[in-house]
Amino acid sequence: MTAAEYGLAQKTNVPLLNKIVELRADIARKLGYASWDDYQIEEKMAKNGATAKAFIQSLVHDIQPKFEAEIATMQQLKASETHDPGAKIELADWRYYQNQLMRKNYSIDTEALRVYFPYERVLQGMFSIYQSIFGLKFEQLQAPYSWFDGVTLWAVSDARTNEPMGLFYLDMFPREGKYNHFAQFSIQPGTRLADGSYLRPTVALLCNFPPPANGAPSLLDHREVETLFHEFGHCMHSILTRANRGRFSGTNVPGDFVEAPSQMLENWTFDKAVLDTFAADYRDPSKKIPAEIIGKLKEARVATIGTTYRRQFSFGLLDLALHGPRATGARVDAQTETNAILSDVFFPVDSRTAFVAFFGHLMGYDGGYYGYAWADAIAADMATVFEQSKGGYLDRETGMRLRDEVYAAGSARDVTESIEKFLGRKQSNLPFLKTLGLGN
Ligand SMILES: [Zn+2]
Repeated sequence: MTAAEYGLAQKTNVPLLNKIVELRADIARKLGYASWDDYQIEEKMAKNGATAKAFIQSLVHDIQPKFEAEIATMQQLKASETHDPGAKIELADWRYYQNQLMRKNYSIDTEALRVYFPYERVLQGMFSIYQSIFGLKFEQLQAPYSWFDGVTLWAVSDARTNEPMGLFYLDMFPREGKYNHFAQFSIQPGTRLADGSYLRPTVALLCNFPPPANGAPSLLDHREVETLFHEFGHCMHSILTRANRGRFSGTNVPGDFVEAPSQMLENWTFDKAVLDTFAADYRDPSKKIPAEIIGKLKEARVATIGTTYRRQFSFGLLDLALHGPRATGARVDAQTETNAILSDVFFPVDSRTAFVAFFGHLMGYDGGYYGYAWADAIAADMATVFEQSKGGYLDRETGMRLRDEVYAAGSARDVTESIEKFLGRKQSNLPFLKTLGLGN
């Protein structure tokens, strides 16, 4: 993002946003809430705006040393590049120096890594892992209906009892007019019918992997493998549900939890034991990914994570500030209020600019942006259960517990209870801080 973009849509959107925030505060009051964020968060894990705010504020504080260290390294790069020993990293150039830093100290030839990730092998490898840890069987079916040739349909059943669990479609390669991100969509949520039978969930996974070309198979990069593990985690969440009401089944869980299981599963793609089960050079499958490359991928993952998260935290806080308690009739000045937070938590911003004018998440995620970090903290904590188990990320017993306590339960019971049942203890933020490179 450049400095110029910080003025995007400013004239039109700032007055509108001020009005929106005022109206939301008014609506919340009429509904008996102290603030819009209390109203929005009531049904989420955080329960109210103050708890969400305190959570983000404590992370802002805890991550300070890592953020400072990253800025110092970027500053050194800038000083040597500009021959100005006093050079400071600013909002306008942090991304540039972040890229420079990654290129200089953590360079990995991501294109060369693609040979280890031929699509079919990755898919079958991931299937084997999920089938094994969750006690499942996947079988390809002849689809009675599909919206495009090449879309495949798969049935999921319980490996032990053969009980059918649900169906998923895979629509994996791009074509004109197709949704161009990666996502899981629910087609039919799991629901208990009046006759006692279970209407089994059906989902579709939409991806856009590079199609096979020039005689070579589709070769994924590591990022795409990570995304596949993440999105397929949402499929599992949808399919392994046994909640009675569709409203509470599958991924219909609080917004500050829904990403946690999938975020957790991204860790699998940084683990040598996991990768060695499927990742191999398609030209010579005896060649596995060298351990030092996986080590470098892990280092690169956290190299500038402090800066990335401080930016996220500033967004979370400005969202909560806008939607926090307001006196009746008080005027809102979204630009000034949010610029102060960005300056305080991230980098100083020019008071004439208005990032908030094009921060689209304020519509739809209003009072909910903190949820990304909230879910990340749970994901990191849940991952430790696998990490401390005998089989690591491939541990069947832990996988089955995740299936029973988290996936099956949905939000038919309080998700905090489900998480604690899976963890076998209260939730902690320490593992999250550890993934940010802090503490031990
Ligand atoms: Zn997701």
